[in-house]
Amino acid sequence: MSGQVCILYTGGTIGMRPTPQGYAPQPGYLHELMATMPEFTHADLPRYTLIEYPELLDSANMRPWHWQRIAEDIVARYAEYDGFIVLHGTDTMAYTASALPFMLEGLGKPVVLTGSQIPLCRVRSDARDNLITALTLIAHEPIPEVCLCFGNRLLRGCRATKVDAAGFQAFDSPNYPDLGSIGVTIRVHKDALLPAQPAPVLKVQPLSDANVGALRLFPGIQAEFVANVLRSPVQGLVLETYGMGNGPSSDTALLDVLRAAHDRGVVMVNCTQCLRGQVDQGGYAAGAALAAAGVVSGMDMTVEAALTKLIYLFSTGCSVQEIRQRIPVNMRGELTGPYERLGGRSTGI
Ligand code: ASP
Repeated sequence: MSGQVCILYTGGTIGMRPTPQGYAPQPGYLHELMATMPEFTHADLPRYTLIEYPELLDSANMRPWHWQRIAEDIVARYAEYDGFIVLHGTDTMAYTASALPFMLEGLGKPVVLTGSQIPLCRVRSDARDNLITALTLIAHEPIPEVCLCFGNRLLRGCRATKVDAAGFQAFDSPNYPDLGSIGVTIRVHKDALLPAQPAPVLKVQPLSDANVGALRLFPGIQAEFVANVLRSPVQGLVLETYGMGNGPSSDTALLDVLRAAHDRGVVMVNCTQCLRGQVDQGGYAAGAALAAAGVVSGMDMTVEAALTKLIYLFSTGCSVQEIRQRIPVNMRGELTGPYERLGGRSTGI
């Protein structure tokens, strides 16, 4: 077993304690609690340093500049530790887990996001297992990527999405296999991991205030409503479409609105509302109409990955044209490219 783990405690249920107003974080409390639990100083676990954020957040209050702070904290301590745990509320954990892989350029060590549905101070908490598993993974496995460890599952961060508001298995990775199996034995599936980065230096891509959003289509959605959503200064929109990426192709007013937004330089990304599966804008005329209006395929990205990829790409200073080209191309394992589909899991006849 190796080294030391840095735990960045950003907030979330895991460190909360009961108050008359409901669960709330309290500065210093998680640190004190862990110090009273013998398992966290057990020889089977690596030593850790807990860094508590000055403002412990319910993750519903997270914003992109919080992701930036987390990324910068990892970079500042990168050489000192074997890996990082980010303790985070579950509500927006999948967004942070999607943003960090884009921002952290040259990552070669594990960054594991975890948290819990019940605070660590409760007897029947899932926090203890989640945290012990995350510590164990970092001590024993060279995982050169951002992952999310929760409810005995190890998922790629930018493939994860929250699927259960109260269950202990709160996250799923609908379009990519788990990175490991966690049971009596913990096994990391090495062939599912990203290749280790040769870059010795980790860098952060700072995020700019990109103006992006997401819009879920529904039967009867009005062209005027979509036009209002797409008004300037919107730069990017994830359009959550039906099935394999279909929209109302008979609504010419709506298609005109999309075409006009495209011509103004708005980047529109097609992601399916379905939990599983891939957008294929050539599969149906209803999908082809969106492509003709300038909507680019988000392939099998989660909405979390598509949104954070948009923010990242706008922050890099790429032109709109370059962003449209890069959206359907795999950067950090966030989507399954056509080649991988043919060569791998989802070949069909
Ligand atoms: N509302 C909490 C949060 O996201 C829920 C949790 O931690 O599970 O911070």
